[in-house]
Amino acid sequence: MSNPYLRLAAPGVRGLKPYQPGKPISELEREYGVTNIIKLASNENPLGPGNRVLEALRDIPDGELSRYPDGGGFELKQALARRHGVEPECITLGNGSNDVLVMIAEAFLQDSLEAIHSQYAFAVYPIAIQAVGATACVAPALPADSDSPYGHDLSAMAGLISERTRLIFIANPNNPTGTWVRAEPLRTFIEGLPQHALLVVDQAYGEYMDDPEYPDCVDWLDRFPNLIVTHTFSKAFGLAGLRIGYAVSAPAIAEILDRIRQPFNVNLMANVAALAALEDRQHLAHSVEMNAAERDRVQTALAGFGLHCVPSAGNFVLVDMGQPAMPVYDALLRKSVIVRPVANYGLDRHLRISIGTPPENDRLLQALGEVLDAASGAHSEAGNGD
Ligand SMILES: *Cc1c(COP(=O)(O)O)cnc(C)c1O
Repeated sequence: MSNPYLRLAAPGVRGLKPYQPGKPISELEREYGVTNIIKLASNENPLGPGNRVLEALRDIPDGELSRYPDGGGFELKQALARRHGVEPECITLGNGSNDVLVMIAEAFLQDSLEAIHSQYAFAVYPIAIQAVGATACVAPALPADSDSPYGHDLSAMAGLISERTRLIFIANPNNPTGTWVRAEPLRTFIEGLPQHALLVVDQAYGEYMDDPEYPDCVDWLDRFPNLIVTHTFSKAFGLAGLRIGYAVSAPAIAEILDRIRQPFNVNLMANVAALAALEDRQHLAHSVEMNAAERDRVQTALAGFGLHCVPSAGNFVLVDMGQPAMPVYDALLRKSVIVRPVANYGLDRHLRISIGTPPENDRLLQALGEVLDAASGAHSEAGNGD
């Protein structure tokens, strides 16, 4: 039955579907009655936060919980400014970087205006764009047989720029593909942008990058003031549950975002944890190293199963299952392993698998091996029948 209130909703909202998160562990427990679950579905840091964060959270005085947090995030902005070599006025804090992405859309878009993103780009961009009534212009991705399968095609994106373009979103590296764009083509792209278009470079997975040609776009802010770089504590820093992220931009852009930022959008615990996480360089380095080694190992094992992986710079891999992915996803759930289907992106033969700890990855590979064996067994039985 159709929703009777839909006609009252803003036009942009009518066409939206809710964001589909990875299946929570508790939900799988309830639905399938399985236990000992591993979740490799939402690209969190499998090591969780480091000890410095846990100690800082325990040290919050009880009385602080009844007080509003520092809405201006003074200390955290100072620390982030030091991290990135910018002024604190360049930082906008958000309840997750998702919050910042929505603020950017609210501040710069409206109906009759356009924003550009790539096919297979992060699912939050179209939601943020359409919720404010603007038009999302989607550039076709690079072909599956290119160097960067399903990755951003910067010339296709440039071809969509019009008088009405206000925002362009590039996730670098991108989720769900894991693909990335290198410094030279990205700089050329930015140099070609008109004055009235802002480029948002989403570096949610930037900490994981090891390609020397990967640009940290914060370094380019002086030259390109129409650039906004977003970052998160949800991935390599291991704080996804606390919700905190931020943008780095010219102060003039940060000042505009501040006009629509909800007064206390970053909670006390997130503030405290983020500060401590920035100080724990060792935990970050360890997380990034483990990811690189395990990502290699998982990719090699998947290739051993005859599966093709998209080259990834993140803490996840996009894998072509060579068959419809939903039955494989479901069979893995029954073995207590949660991965991520990506049919909502139009990739119905692929699964996105987050890189876990070594024992978690062992379990994934074991379970996937069994599922693929069972499927090919069923296949050859059916074949023998005729
Ligand atoms: C996970 C992710 C984010 C981070 O979202 P938060 O709201 O900060 O948790 C942002 N961009 C991309 C591309 C992501 O995959």
